[in-house]
Amino acid sequence: MKLDYTQLVQWDKDYVWHPFTQMQMWNADDPLIIERGEGSYLVDVLGNRYLDGISSLWVTVHGHAHPVLTQAIKDQVDKIAHTTLLGLANVPSIQLAKMLVAITPPGLNKVFYSDAGATSVEIALKIAFQYWQQQTDPQGRQKKKFISLEEAYHGDTVGAVSVGGMDLFHATYRDLLFEGYRVPTPYCYRCPLGREHDKCNLACVQVVEDIMAEHHQEIAGMIVEPLVQGAAGMLMAPEGYLRKIRELCTTYNILLIADEVAVGFGRTGTMFACEQEGVSPDIMCIAKGMTGGYLPLAATLTTETIFQAFLGEHRECKTFFHGHTYTGNPVGCAVALANIEVMEQTRLIQHVQHSAQILSSELEKFKFLRHVGDIRQKGLMVGIELVKDKYTKEPYPWEENIGHQVILEARKHGLIIRPLGNVIVLMPILTMSEEQLQRVVSITYQAIKTVTERDRQ
Ligand SMILES: *Cc1c(COP(=O)(O)O)cnc(C)c1O
Repeated sequence: MKLDYTQLVQWDKDYVWHPFTQMQMWNADDPLIIERGEGSYLVDVLGNRYLDGISSLWVTVHGHAHPVLTQAIKDQVDKIAHTTLLGLANVPSIQLAKMLVAITPPGLNKVFYSDAGATSVEIALKIAFQYWQQQTDPQGRQKKKFISLEEAYHGDTVGAVSVGGMDLFHATYRDLLFEGYRVPTPYCYRCPLGREHDKCNLACVQVVEDIMAEHHQEIAGMIVEPLVQGAAGMLMAPEGYLRKIRELCTTYNILLIADEVAVGFGRTGTMFACEQEGVSPDIMCIAKGMTGGYLPLAATLTTETIFQAFLGEHRECKTFFHGHTYTGNPVGCAVALANIEVMEQTRLIQHVQHSAQILSSELEKFKFLRHVGDIRQKGLMVGIELVKDKYTKEPYPWEENIGHQVILEARKHGLIIRPLGNVIVLMPILTMSEEQLQRVVSITYQAIKTVTERDRQ
């Protein structure tokens, strides 16, 4: 059956409310409607093909419609699509938990499932909070607050927003949120402390230490996005930052929560970003790439010590009273397991490291563009920050919506990307070939040049 594009557009406008979208703007335009995917490509209902330069919002690992992943889903659905983890166990959730414990940093050995990055964060916060409440030491029970980073993004549920720091997304809800401590973002291009990169001796870590030294008695945990603050605009922490934070958390008896939702599963060139600094967090959140981008599934991993604090007699009520209806969904777990197996069989991490080098040299030429202020890259995560004035670093005004203009231009040439404000984000699918990567880069380059140098031509 041929899909009627005009009809679908009308129904989309009539019935669908899109996320993070000003619907008045949306409805003024005709949307691109995706019908299927093939490897690194998205295909719309009119048959147009586009390179998927954002991995379908940072999730796709092996490409779309991968036969092994698709088969894993089919096989599991033939057995059972859903059964609950409340009071029962299921086969794929057991196998996957064992696998996750094996591939995550040492010390993490319990897996609590949920279905989105945000829920994995809610769970991490509640576990950390309850962990301290269940200490026999009354001092421990004072530990109720969290440290988070300015510009942090941990998802859109109320708890996750409470530890979020992006005013654009979060300011509206302030009265709804719980309070905590905020520390400066390691954003070296625009250092919030006004320091110069490489000469600062990690001054932003000193701020963390000062807060911990003064308030550790009331701090339960610190949550960070290891190496890269994604949604903030691909802000990359300087080397040693995460390791230092780990040391401080240990010193001051504060739980370190690593939100690996964006950076996990090979994205930064190692299976998990924490590995690059030899860090084992106390709690780790994973989601996005976990199922290779096939189904919504997330997990929160914890250490044995944390898990032990929840053990007790029925009457003690030390249970973790939390769960979601689809917790441990067997189809999600089955495809996640297939995703990890294929990653290992194809030595995907090595491929990512190689691709990251190619990408890095391809990105060199962007430095010479008049309106590119900063180019940030970690593995296959890239942020290209556009500025009105390269020398003063003056940002483009919000109203100009420059990022959006650039991605629309790129789309005309067959590339789907999505900006974060004035930052052009590239999140290529991890299996992309050298040729495809080069195409992603060259279309992006041309689109930036066309849009930002338009009035000069
Ligand atoms: C995307 C993201 C989340 C939220 O994940 P959802 O699945 O959208 O709820 C949390 N943390 C980080 C670092 C993310 O990038």
